[in-house]
Amino acid sequence: MPVHRYVPLKAPCKLCGEGFDHRHAASDPALTACPTCGQAVTRDCIQQITTPKLLAPTSVSKAKQAGFTVFKRINDNEFERQ
Ligand SMILES: [Zn+2]
Repeated sequence: MPVHRYVPLKAPCKLCGEGFDHRHAASDPALTACPTCGQAVTRDCIQQITTPKLLAPTSVSKAKQAGFTVFKRINDNEFERQ
């Protein structure tokens, strides 16, 4: 059975903190209240995304830190390595 991540609507919950994991079948209805304290919760879908975030480099220095070789265009045919 998959483990679903639930987060309190009014985080943080005093009893379950930032959220909790609840194991139940995908066919079962999602929890609407925390079984510990009873406050309203919502299923956190963010945790189910498995693809890593692709963050585009926003600057030359960040691109270099990320391992890219940065070239500066000099003219139509020439590029200068930075
Ligand atoms: Zn709770």
